[in-house]
Amino acid sequence: MVRVSLPRKELFDIPQGVIYLDGNSLGVLPKGAAARATQVIENEWGNQLIKAWNTAGWMALPQVVGDRIADLLGAPSGSVATGDTLSIKVYQALAAALKMRPDRRVILSDNGNFPSDLYMAQGLIETIDKGYELRTPAPENVIDAITEDIAVVMLTQVDYRSGRMHDMRAITEKAHAMGAVMIWDLAHSAGAVPVDLTASNAEFAVGCSYKYLNGGPGAPAFIYVRPDIVDTIKPALSGWLGHDAPFAMELDYRPAMSTERMRVGTPPILQLAVLQDALEAWDGVAMEDLRAASIALSETFIREVEARCPTLTLASPRDPHQRGSQVSFAFENGYPAMQALIERGVIGDFRAPNIMRFGFTPLYLDEKDVVAAAEIIEDVINNDIWRDPKYHSVSRVT
Ligand SMILES: *Cc1c(COP(=O)(O)O)cnc(C)c1O
Repeated sequence: MVRVSLPRKELFDIPQGVIYLDGNSLGVLPKGAAARATQVIENEWGNQLIKAWNTAGWMALPQVVGDRIADLLGAPSGSVATGDTLSIKVYQALAAALKMRPDRRVILSDNGNFPSDLYMAQGLIETIDKGYELRTPAPENVIDAITEDIAVVMLTQVDYRSGRMHDMRAITEKAHAMGAVMIWDLAHSAGAVPVDLTASNAEFAVGCSYKYLNGGPGAPAFIYVRPDIVDTIKPALSGWLGHDAPFAMELDYRPAMSTERMRVGTPPILQLAVLQDALEAWDGVAMEDLRAASIALSETFIREVEARCPTLTLASPRDPHQRGSQVSFAFENGYPAMQALIERGVIGDFRAPNIMRFGFTPLYLDEKDVVAAAEIIEDVINNDIWRDPKYHSVSRVT
């Protein structure tokens, strides 16, 4: 495969005048996505109707897309299933992992984890109703909190607020040494940092495809199960498309003998088709090149912003090797400041209570974008532009 150079802006539709630093939340629109969606709607759905499950390859699409994602994550073909949302995949992984350690009752996560992951754990604990406990120490204390009573360690590798990155191999090793099962949430890792799932030896990994993978709003999530255990794990959401023979219409559930058992119901074909198109942007991209470009962009950004705006405080690790592909600054008036930035074409986002968050996506950002963004941030912060009352009304999505 030809190794391409970065960025590849020509593959994406980015509105004029926008510097998009929010690809960690919702990736940009790939140029081919609209045509692909139209083709699926008009030709496949419109003309082929229900035949398209076979004639247009719809039934195989979740696996085809899963294999492409597996490739990006250092996982073998067939080990990644796609569909549903990340919250559901967290639930499935956690339920299956708990069943692997029936005599333990503790789930270990951290208090920097994304709320939905913690909420799903809390809901599952209530449903099982067997006295399970969720422990959430501070992220830096997690490795020491892995003790012999832990059933499952469930962590998000890259912290959604600060970008702080856990050491996947070291934590997985400790979890295994203590007899625990390891689940990694790769929501802010997939397409952002090099991941080697096979080398990590983790039992499960989950993630979403609308962030760095540019699959679009509502794009399907993914779940990885380590191939040597997949045939023994018990799916909690035992839907018909995870059955070994869905069209045999048997009365009793019998899981598929592969990661397919983590499928639940009918796959989202429109979203999968768009995601498949989006994943073509990764053809020829070496993950080490992406990482080098990401570090260069974030280092430039930190240097430029700190030099211009002394009132902003870096809220991400200063060492680039301990960061994912995002940089956060703490600022008391972060919400109105971000609204003022967005109006000026610099799109990042805000996370309560005071974090201004900026994502770096080397597929479609270059150094010039980053410097231009820092200049606009300087204007908004140093000239108190954020004080304008129009930037203070809070929207539903921040
Ligand atoms: C983005 C994100 C989610 C969102 O879950 P959805 O079910 O896709 O809404 C969950 N967990 C983490 C760690 C995330 O970063």
